[in-house]
Amino acid sequence: MDHNVINLIKIQKEIQLKVSESNNRIKMPEIVAVSKTFSISNILPVINYGQIHFGENKIQEALEKWESLKNDFKHIKLHMLGKLQTNKVKYVIPLFDYLHSLDNIKLAEKISLEQKKNNKSLKIFIQVNIGNEKQKNGIEVDQLESFYKKCTNELKLNIIGLMCLPPHNEKSSLYFSEMDELTKKLNLSELSMGMSNDYIEAVKNNSTFLRIGSKIFGKRN
Ligand SMILES: *Cc1c(COP(=O)(O)O)cnc(C)c1O
Repeated sequence: MDHNVINLIKIQKEIQLKVSESNNRIKMPEIVAVSKTFSISNILPVINYGQIHFGENKIQEALEKWESLKNDFKHIKLHMLGKLQTNKVKYVIPLFDYLHSLDNIKLAEKISLEQKKNNKSLKIFIQVNIGNEKQKNGIEVDQLESFYKKCTNELKLNIIGLMCLPPHNEKSSLYFSEMDELTKKLNLSELSMGMSNDYIEAVKNNSTFLRIGSKIFGKRN
């Protein structure tokens, strides 16, 4: 069997175990297989195994790989994870189904405008700067509620949840539980957090979309 598929099955089993240990307090999250830098030949076996959600972080690369793949596999859901410039929004809306990195109002306004032209809307996560880091993208926690309200009430965006990248070299669990609380406070249903090195911690804190790359596809160059 394909290596990447074996890796994915191992992760799925591990998560299922955590879910059943919780006596179904935890809902089974979706895995977004993060295929950035990997070629179509690496991705195809994972699609054929039945994986639905895939993630990319660069528009040009995503267009090259996924325009044809999505045409061949119409059930695939594609997730944009990376920083998005407003001038690229027009490429994202037709190709992608989810955006995890909404982090400023200019971008929100541009998405709102472009969606009207395309007759298609993205499912969107607001990226939260949960570690309050200077160099990190994301909405500050104390701005989150007003940003969320503006996106939904004024711009009519389909905000489904929150997303975070916790600070490097720190335990993620405190940040994850804070994200869980923020999600509940805003009455949102989805939460995008957990990567190859901390997805089990994310599962315990009610993540609904785990973004897992290297643990499935191997080390990136
Ligand atoms: C690359 C990337 C991931 C996956 O990272 P791994 O550590 O390889 O699992 C998740 N989220 C975002 C935003 C990424 O850019």
